[in-house]
Amino acid sequence: MTATFINGTEIAATVRDEVAVEVSRLKESGIDAGLAVVLVGNDPASSSYVGMKARMCARLGIVGRKLTLPAEATTEQIESRIAELNNDDGIDGILVQLPLPKHVDKHAVLESVDPLKDVDGFHSRNIGSLVLGHESLVACTPLGVMKLLQRSGVQIEGARATVLGRSDDVGKPLAMLLMHANATVTICHSKTANLAEVARGSDIVVAATGKAALVTADFIKAGAVVIDVGSNQVSDRGEVVRLFGDESPRLELFDKRGYIWMGDVHEREVKEVASMMSPVPGGVGPMTIAMLMSNTIKAARLRRGI
Ligand code: NAP
Repeated sequence: MTATFINGTEIAATVRDEVAVEVSRLKESGIDAGLAVVLVGNDPASSSYVGMKARMCARLGIVGRKLTLPAEATTEQIESRIAELNNDDGIDGILVQLPLPKHVDKHAVLESVDPLKDVDGFHSRNIGSLVLGHESLVACTPLGVMKLLQRSGVQIEGARATVLGRSDDVGKPLAMLLMHANATVTICHSKTANLAEVARGSDIVVAATGKAALVTADFIKAGAVVIDVGSNQVSDRGEVVRLFGDESPRLELFDKRGYIWMGDVHEREVKEVASMMSPVPGGVGPMTIAMLMSNTIKAARLRRGI
C-alpha cells in the first residue's frame, strides 16, 4: 500500500477562506475582530512566528496587534499588560507567544488571560470545559489535527486512536477531542512500554513527541491513518540520507540550507503501510495558524453571545 498524503496547505486555505467570510459578516454587524499577540523578549524564532500571525490577520481582515515586552519583564508586568488587553473591547483574542523567558511564571501568565479571549485554549477554565465537553476555546494544533481528519473523510467514530505524546498543548487536548468524537483513545508517552505494539493496534495514530522519525513502519497497522504533528530540525546530512535516501529532494534542500524540517514519522517507511498520512512540512503546521484565526472569530462571537 502507498499512502495518500493529506494536504494540510490546501485544507488550511479552505479554513482561511471560511474565516474571511466570517470576518466580513462580523464587519457588517459593526464588529472588527481583533487579535493581540504578546511577545516577551526578542527570540528570533518567536519574532518570526509573531510576524507570520500578524501577516495572516492582515490577509483575513482581522485587526492584529503586537505587544512586545523586554526580555527582563517580570511576571507582574506581563500580567498587567494582559489585564489591559482583557479590558480592551477592540481585542477578541489574546495569545502569549511561548516560550516565555525562564524567570517568568508561565502558568500565572496564561491564567491571567481572560478565558473568553484565550484563543490558544491554554487557560485551565477552557481546558476544564474541553474535558467536560462544553463549548470552549480549544488549543489550535489539536483542533487542526481534528480538522485534517474530518476534511479527509477519516472515520473517527468507533476508531481506535493512539496519541503519542501527552503535552498540555497538544497530546492531552487532542486525546479529549478524539474521545468526544467517539474514538477509543490511548495516550502514550516516554514511559509507555511496547510503544510500537500499542500504536499498531490503532486505526488512527497521531505523533506529537518531538522525536524525529520515531514512528517507523512497525508502529502502523496496514491501512491506518497517520497524522504527524512533530516539527524537528535535522542538521546531520547522514541522518537525512538514512531517512530519505540519497536521491530525495530533501537532500537537495539540506545541501542548500544546512538543515531540514521533518516530523516524528519515518515517512519513507510509513507511507508503504498507512492508507493516509500528513506530511511535514505541509500537514499540521499550516492548520495551526488557520485554527488560530478561526478561534479569534469564535472568541469574538462567544464574548458577545452571537
Ligand atoms: P512536548 O511538550 O515536548 O511533549 C512531548 C511529548 O512526547 C511528551 O508527552 C513526552 O512524554 C512524549 N515523548 C517524548 N519522547 C517520547 C518517546 N520516545 N516515546 C513516546 N513518547 C515520547 O512537545 P509538544 O509541545 O507536545 O510538541 C510535540 C511536537 O509537535 C514537537 O516536535 C513540536 O515542535 C511539534 N508541534 C508542532 C506544532 C505545529 O503547529 N506544527 C504545534 C505544536 C507542536 P513525557 O510526557 O513522558 O515526557
